[in-house]
Amino acid sequence: MAEKPRRAVVAPGVLPGPRIAGSSGSTKAAMVVAERSHAVRLTRAPEPTAGVLLDGSTPADHLETRMSGASSSMRALLDKSLDAKRLRAREIGELFDAKGADFEALQAVADFWRRETVGDVVTYVVNRNINFTNVCGVGCGFCAFSTAIAREDAYFLSPEQVADRAEECWERGGTEVCIQGGIHPKLEWTYYRDVLTSVKQRVPEIHCHTFSPMEVVWGAKKASMSVRSYLEMLKEAGLGSLPGTAAEILVDEIRRELAPKKESVAEWVEVITTAHALGIPTTSTIMFGHVEKIEHRVEHLVLLRSIQDDTGGFTEFVPLPYVHEYTPMYIQGRSGPGPSHLDAIRMHSIARVALRGSIDNIQASWVKLGVSGVQECLQSGCNDFGGTLMEESISRLAGADHGQELWVDQIRSAIESVGRVPRQRSTTYGEPPQPPVTT
Ligand code: SF4
Repeated sequence: MAEKPRRAVVAPGVLPGPRIAGSSGSTKAAMVVAERSHAVRLTRAPEPTAGVLLDGSTPADHLETRMSGASSSMRALLDKSLDAKRLRAREIGELFDAKGADFEALQAVADFWRRETVGDVVTYVVNRNINFTNVCGVGCGFCAFSTAIAREDAYFLSPEQVADRAEECWERGGTEVCIQGGIHPKLEWTYYRDVLTSVKQRVPEIHCHTFSPMEVVWGAKKASMSVRSYLEMLKEAGLGSLPGTAAEILVDEIRRELAPKKESVAEWVEVITTAHALGIPTTSTIMFGHVEKIEHRVEHLVLLRSIQDDTGGFTEFVPLPYVHEYTPMYIQGRSGPGPSHLDAIRMHSIARVALRGSIDNIQASWVKLGVSGVQECLQSGCNDFGGTLMEESISRLAGADHGQELWVDQIRSAIESVGRVPRQRSTTYGEPPQPPVTT
C-alpha cells in the first residue's frame, strides 16, 4: 500500500509551498491543507517561528509522528480536520474518547491549528477582577463564592469603591477591569450603569469588560426594559465588552440541575447575540466536569460555533474546569470532583479543533489549571494566558489552589519557557491602550 503523504506544516507567515517529507513533490491533500489553513482569519500578523519544538523536532515531524501512532478511527477524524473540513457534532464527541497515543495525536493537531491560526505568540491582558458583591440569592450548586445578606462575610462595593479599584488597576499598568458580582437582592437596576459611569469618569481609557449575561438579564427584567435597550444603556455608559460567563453548559436540562434559577439557554443566547449586533464583543466559556455528559459539551460547542457563524462577535473561548471542593453540589454528593487532568487538557485541544476557523483564540485559565497546566494547554492548542486578575476570589473559594494574582513577568517567563513569544494585548486582542508593562 502506498504510504500516506505528509501534510505541509509551515511556519506562520511563510507562504506554504506544499512540502512532502521524503519527497520534493506535492500532493493535492497537502495543497488543500496549506491553502485552506491560510484562509483562516488571523487576528494579528503571525510571528516568525524558529521551526523547532522544545523536544528538538520540527512541527511537521512532530505532527507526523503523533498521527502515525494514533488508531485508524482517530486518524480518520483528525485527517478530516487537517483537510480543513468542519467536524460534525458526532465527530467532535468521538474526540473525547482520545487517550494515550490518540490523545497525543489530538494535541498535535490542535497545536498545528493554533500555529496556523495565530502563530507562536501567546497573549495576556493586564487586568483586575472586581467582584463587587458576594451576596447572591441565585443559589447555583457549583458556587462557593456567594453568601447570604446577613452573613458576617457579606460585602458590597458602591460604584465609587469599584472606581477606586479601577483607578488602582490603571495605575499599576492594567488596561481592563472585569467587573461581575452576585445578584444582590437589594441591587437597583441602575447599579450596573452607575458602576460604568463612575469607572469611566475616573479612568476614561480603561476597558470595562463587565457583567455576565445573567446580570444583564436580571438588570433588564428589573428595569422592565428589553435586553437590547438595557445593553444600549450600558454601552452608552462605557461598557466595552461582556464576559461570556454564566454559560456553564448551554443545555437547559443541565442548567436546571446546576442552577435552576439561572437564565435559560435562550436568554443567554439573546444577550450574547444582541450584544454582538450592537457592536459589543463578548468572550465565550464552558464550565465542564460536573454533572454533564460528553453530548452536552458537544451541544455547547456547536451552539457557540453557530452563533459565531452568524455574528463573529466572540473574541475567545475559555474552557473552565469545574473546581469542586467547597461547592454545595459536591458537598451534597450531587457532582463528581471535577475533570481529570487528561480531561481538562483534552477539552482545550478539542476546543481548538472544533472551533477552528470560527473562534481563533483559545484561552487556558491559570486560576483553574495553575501555571504548569496552562503551559501544557499552550502545547495543546491554546494561545492565550488570560489576565493578571490582581484579585480572584471565585475559584479560590471553590477550592482552587492557585493564587489571586500573577505578575506580568511571571506570565511572560512561563510563556517563554515553553518556547513561545509573550505579548500583552487589549481585551479585544488588539494593542493595549497604554505602553505594555514588561516587568
Ligand atoms: S455563580 Fe453567580 S449567580 Fe450563581 S450563586 Fe454564584 S454569584 Fe450567584
